Amino acid sequence: MKNVLITGGSRGIGRACVEKFTREGYTVSFIYNNSATAAIELSNLTGAHAIKADVSNPDQVQGAIVDALTTMGSIDILINNAGISLIKLFTDTTDEDYYNIMNTNFGGTFFVTREVSKNMISNHYGRIVNIGSMWGKVGASCEVAYSASKSAIEGFTKALAKELGPSGICVNCIEPGVINTEMNSELDETTLAELKNETPVGKIGDANELAEFIYSIATEKSGFLTGQIIGFDGGFAI
Ligand code: NAP
Repeated sequence: MKNVLITGGSRGIGRACVEKFTREGYTVSFIYNNSATAAIELSNLTGAHAIKADVSNPDQVQGAIVDALTTMGSIDILINNAGISLIKLFTDTTDEDYYNIMNTNFGGTFFVTREVSKNMISNHYGRIVNIGSMWGKVGASCEVAYSASKSAIEGFTKALAKELGPSGICVNCIEPGVINTEMNSELDETTLAELKNETPVGKIGDANELAEFIYSIATEKSGFLTGQIIGFDGGFAI
C-alpha cells in the first residue's frame, strides 16, 4: 500500500508532503494548477509524478485521477490539500469569490475524493486526509467564505468516514493553525505577531512539521483512526 496522491503539491504544505512521502519510499503523484515551474522542479527533485489539473473542475479532476491511476496502478493514500484563501469583508464578497473558494476548497476535496474512493473501494483499502483549517472550527472575521469552505470539510469527513469505513477506508481531517507558507504572505507583521501571541505554544507552524504529522496518520498503522477532526494549531482553537 504505497501509492499516494497529493493535491496542491507544487507549493507550501502539499510540497512538504510530496517531499516527506517520497523520502519514505512511497510512490507519489501530485496535482498542481498554476505553478508549473515549481511542479516540474519538484518532480525532478523527488521523482514524484506531476499532474496539471484544476481541482475545482470535475472534468479535469476525472482526467487527473485517470492519469494518476495509469501511472501508479492504485491510490492507497489521498491527501486533499489544494486550497486558496480569501481575505475580504463579508459584504464585499462577490458571487465569483464565493463559487471560486467553495469549488476549490470544498469542491476540490469532494470531486477528487469521489473519483479516488472508487479505486479505494475496489481495493478495500484507503487513507484519506483532508486539510481543513482552524478557521473552519472557530471562524475568522473577514474570512467568512474561507471559514465556511473549511467547515464543510468537517461534515464531509465525518459522513464519509461512516460510509467508507466498511470498505477499509479511514477518513480524517487535519485543521492547521497559521503555517509558514505563501498563503500567509498577505498578512502584515503586526497581524502575524498577534496570531503568534494568541497561539498557546507562541509560534507560527512549520510546513515540514505538519507534513510529518500528516504522514503519521496516513500510514497502514492508523487503521483505527477515522472520522476525526484534528487540530494542528499550537493550541489556537482550544
Ligand atoms: P499555498 O502555499 O498557497 O499552496 C496552495 C497549493 O494549492 C498550491 O500547490 C496550489 O497549486 C494548490 N492549488 C490552489 N488552487 C488549486 C486548484 N484550483 N487546483 C489545483 N491546485 C490548486 O498554501 P498552503 O499554505 O500550503 O495551504 C495548503 C492547504 O492548507 C490549503 O487547503 C489551506 O487552506 C490549508 N491551510 C493552510 C494554512 C496556513 O496557514 N498556511 C492554515 C490552515 C489551513 P498552484 O500553485 O500550482 O496553483
